[in-house]
Amino acid sequence: MSEQEWVEKLESKPNYKLGQNFLIDSNISRKITKLVQGQLADPIIEVGPGTGSLTSELLKDNYRIKAVEIDGNLAEILNERFIDVPNLEIFNEDAMEFDYTQLQGPWWIFVSNLPYNIGTRLLVKLITEVPVIHRYVVMVQKEVGDRIVANPGGKEYGALSVLFKLFTESKIQFDVSKNCFYPPPKITSSVLTIQRETILDEETRIRAFEISKIAFQQKRKKVRTSLKSIISEDRLVELGIDPNNRASNLTPENYYDIAKDIL
Ligand code: SAM
Repeated sequence: MSEQEWVEKLESKPNYKLGQNFLIDSNISRKITKLVQGQLADPIIEVGPGTGSLTSELLKDNYRIKAVEIDGNLAEILNERFIDVPNLEIFNEDAMEFDYTQLQGPWWIFVSNLPYNIGTRLLVKLITEVPVIHRYVVMVQKEVGDRIVANPGGKEYGALSVLFKLFTESKIQFDVSKNCFYPPPKITSSVLTIQRETILDEETRIRAFEISKIAFQQKRKKVRTSLKSIISEDRLVELGIDPNNRASNLTPENYYDIAKDIL
C-alpha cells in the first residue's frame, strides 16, 4: 500500500492542532532514514509516527524502535500496519509526558517529523534532560531549523541557538517542499541532524541557556542592563565581555563564562 493509501485510512480529517501533515513522498522518508547512520545496536525512539511512513523505512534497516503517538486512531492504524513486526513497540502517549527514563543506555537515536505544536519544547526538554539520546534526525519548520543553527549577530540567533551550540553539533541537511505532505503545510520544512556529545558540565551549560533567555527577553537593551540582576558590569569586563553589547552579540561561550562565574 502507498503512503497516500495509509493516510486515506484515517476516519477523521488530519488534526491541524496535532501538526498532522503526513509525509507521503517515500523518497524523502528514505533520504531521512539514511541520515540516521546508527550502529545496529542503537535503538530508535520515534515521536509522532503518524501512519508510519518513516517507521516503515527505519524497519527496513532493522532498527529496534519505540514509537510514541498521541492520536489513538493513528496508534490503531500503526498496530494494523505493523502487526507482525517484533522490532516495534507502539506507545499511545503524549511525547511531552512520556517516561524517557525507560530508554536504557547506552545510546539512543531520536527520529521524528516533529509536530509543530511541541517541536521546539520537546527538543529543549530532551537535550537538557535525556542525555542517553546521542543523535537526532528531525524534520522541523524551516524557521525553527534556522534558529537552531544560527550564529551570533544574525537575526535568527537566540537562546535556542545558544542551547544547541553548547550541547550539540547541529546541521541543516536539506529542505522539504510542502508538496511532499498531505495535507500540505503552510511553510517549508528542514531536516536536521543533531549530534549531542557526552557533556561533563551539563548544569553550567543549562544555566548558560537560562541566562541567554533572560538576555534575549530584553534583546534591545545592553547586557549591562539586561543581565544586571545576574552579573555586574565590572565583572563582565573582567570576563572580556563588552557590557555595551546586546544579547545577540554575546557568543555561546560568553554565556557559558557568565554561568561559570556566578556559580
Ligand atoms: N511521522 C509521520 C509522517 O512523517 O508522516 C507523521 C508526522 S506529523 C508532522 C506529526 C505526528 O505527531 C502526528 O502523527 C501527530 O498525531 C503526532 N503528535 C502530535 N503531538 C504529539 C504529542 N504530544 N505526542 C506524540 N505524538 C504527537
